[in-house]
Amino acid sequence: MSVSWKAYLIDLDGTLYHGTRIIPGADQLINGLLEKHIPFLFVTNNSSRTPAAVAAHLQGMGIPAKEDEVCTSAVAAAEYIATRMPDSRIAPIGEAGLIEALQEAGLTMDFEQPDVVVQGIDRNFTYETLTRAARWIGAGSRYVLTNPDLLLPSQEGLMPGAGTLSAAIQAATGVKPVVIGKPSEHLMNYAIARLGLKHEEVAVIGDNMQTDIAAGVNAGCGTILALTGVTTQDNLPDFVRTSGVKPDIVCSSLQEVQNVICGHK
Ligand SMILES: [Mg+2]
Repeated sequence: MSVSWKAYLIDLDGTLYHGTRIIPGADQLINGLLEKHIPFLFVTNNSSRTPAAVAAHLQGMGIPAKEDEVCTSAVAAAEYIATRMPDSRIAPIGEAGLIEALQEAGLTMDFEQPDVVVQGIDRNFTYETLTRAARWIGAGSRYVLTNPDLLLPSQEGLMPGAGTLSAAIQAATGVKPVVIGKPSEHLMNYAIARLGLKHEEVAVIGDNMQTDIAAGVNAGCGTILALTGVTTQDNLPDFVRTSGVKPDIVCSSLQEVQNVICGHK
């Protein structure tokens, strides 16, 4: 098979690794892209880690990665706010990855009367956090959500994600956030702009139909589904039905992904 995409946006958890365990072929896939000089970016909904921490996590598993190859939903959220609401004052609810991204974008923090509440995963979220968010948004602050994931896998079992915290804020305010991460096209648009390519020249590689593949379709990109995580040959038809999208290419392993995208050059 031969494909004509010029660059790739690659999901992380479930596509290149599970937690701290590398998925077979992930290191060869990235090395293959580097050898063929095929541009790519790592694109993750996870807002808790900084790009430097994501790159270090990948390197720790033997996957070559540089900080400037990582796009997080936190960095895309900061860029979204800095571009569209440049002088706004921000109240972040989140972890280091989000706080650092907002600071790097030159945004000003304001915990009294913010123009924008931007929320990601916050493992120190309390009743007080919810109260403050509800009051700020109730008083007219815009509401930006880094990513809508409800649950995250972890070594100990499922953990509530940013989307679950957001459900509480939405219940308290009746306000729907602007969503940046997958399946929204905003994170993809940010990553595509960094590549400097047209949407149709780029393909998304991921394991999740409802986030990765839906985001790729929403952004007008190609899509490659890797059956390395959430989606299996057996549940794929169900996901096609519930997500309403279909991947351009389905690969059962990362070796197959590599053959598809590196084989033709
Ligand atoms: Mg994934």
